[in-house]
Amino acid sequence: MQAYLDYAATTPMSPTSLEAFQKAAQVLGNASSVHRAGQHARELLEEGRVMLAESIGAHPLEVILNSGGTEGDNHVFWSVSRQFERGHIITSSIEHSAVLAPARFLEATGRFEVTYLQPDRYGRIFPEQVEEALREDTVMVSVMHANNEVGSVQDIRSIAEVCRARGALVHTDAVQSLGILPVDVHAWGVDFASFSAHKFYGPTGVGMLYVRRGLELTPHMMAGHQEKGFRGGTHNVSGVYAAGVAAREAVALQPETHTRLQQLKDRLQQGLASLENISFNHAPDSSPKVLSVTVHGADGEALLMNLDLESVYVSAGSACSAGTMQASHVLLALGLSEEDAKSSLRFSLGRGVTEAEIDFAIEGFKAAVSRSRF
Ligand code: PLP
Repeated sequence: MQAYLDYAATTPMSPTSLEAFQKAAQVLGNASSVHRAGQHARELLEEGRVMLAESIGAHPLEVILNSGGTEGDNHVFWSVSRQFERGHIITSSIEHSAVLAPARFLEATGRFEVTYLQPDRYGRIFPEQVEEALREDTVMVSVMHANNEVGSVQDIRSIAEVCRARGALVHTDAVQSLGILPVDVHAWGVDFASFSAHKFYGPTGVGMLYVRRGLELTPHMMAGHQEKGFRGGTHNVSGVYAAGVAAREAVALQPETHTRLQQLKDRLQQGLASLENISFNHAPDSSPKVLSVTVHGADGEALLMNLDLESVYVSAGSACSAGTMQASHVLLALGLSEEDAKSSLRFSLGRGVTEAEIDFAIEGFKAAVSRSRF
């Protein structure tokens, strides 16, 4: 037996999405070709786009098809840097590197100042903080919806309201939300939102950027004629079609998934809590997908390796960079010490997880902890 509890890293393709992928992969034709073969491919592509758009409450014309969350996040920052000569950007210190890296890049040009909002101890960013940080020259605010490390869910609707009242563009990285939490970009009132199919049981390398109708994007480095000129390159027809099928399925299953994952998370938390000197980092109202635990006095790297030996697959609260373990910037922002952040693990749940796997993971965790404490 094994327990794959790393669904925030990636999800397997669902059988329905895989079947759709195989079907579409057999279609001959480039979606940009004018002959009938090309038009058949175009039909599948547009079908995929419609399903993707519907799954987030958008109009199909508001969806830019791309390669995933990293591209969508970067594209928005790139576009802002071309649209404005200079200005102020607000984001948070717990964003994914797909947002933090371009934010720092724009900062380094000297043309943009960036404010990094600090979360509370559970990873929550409040609309009042955004309101306070907004300036006359704020051009964009980028705050993620559900956090990938601690699962905190931001009130993106209120954040967007505050920003729009002051004329700032709003972007949200909602990569970890689709299929777990309700998503409705129009109701949220955001201008841009990023999504990635491999987080909702679709293929890797396919994603979408929502761009509110009427807004212009600047093409990023992939200039070309596809996607209204905002994102060039031959369309990935089978990927987009399979992503659309996965999105539709994820949204149909969302209420039931949320309930089930919450039950599994509660079971897991109870099991882990029976150990001494453990604390949890996620908020009680966080996404049911993510559980973040600190095992005080344990070496995170050793924990992860010992869990691997137990066939329990999770993520560390740290990132391996240039061969050294670095404490997670998210956990540090929550106020954890470097040592505690390095002794933390992220368990993340998904549709395939069973109660038996949770129990197996709890037993594996107990064994791994006893071998990893200094
Ligand atoms: N944003 C968040 C919150 C994520 O969790 C991830 C993936 O881990 C990304 C962006 C990057 O998405 P992709 O893997 O599609 O580039």
